Amino acid sequence: MVGKERLRSLVEAAKKARLRAYSPYSGVKIGAAVLASDGAIYSGANIENASYGLSCCAERTAIFKAVSEGARKIVAVAVVGKSEEFTRPCGACRQVMVEFNPNMVVLRRGLDGFSEDGTAGSLLPAHFNPPGLSKK
Ligand code: ZN
Repeated sequence: MVGKERLRSLVEAAKKARLRAYSPYSGVKIGAAVLASDGAIYSGANIENASYGLSCCAERTAIFKAVSEGARKIVAVAVVGKSEEFTRPCGACRQVMVEFNPNMVVLRRGLDGFSEDGTAGSLLPAHFNPPGLSKK
């Protein structure tokens, strides 16, 4: 269970990250922040590319930053956009989220204050993770 104050900090970090979005093609600015199990917060923004398929969503940017800094379990992610509609994680982000915790709390916020919460696993119930795949 994540405290309300920590979740508020997470949303604030996502709002700040949104301002750093690189989106010269769509103009859409999304910020995300993740809370690692050790309490650290990592943020990220969407990064577009002239070769559109190489663009990366804010959620994955934040998660990859966290993991590359040593985090292995993420307990919550906040996604902030101008409109809540643009904060709905895409399938690729949902798959990445469940990799680092199917019970990850997903918070979505539009600047108008609308929110919808759930877990990564509930957003992608039939995610890819065959038991025989891991060599742990
Ligand atoms: Zn995505």
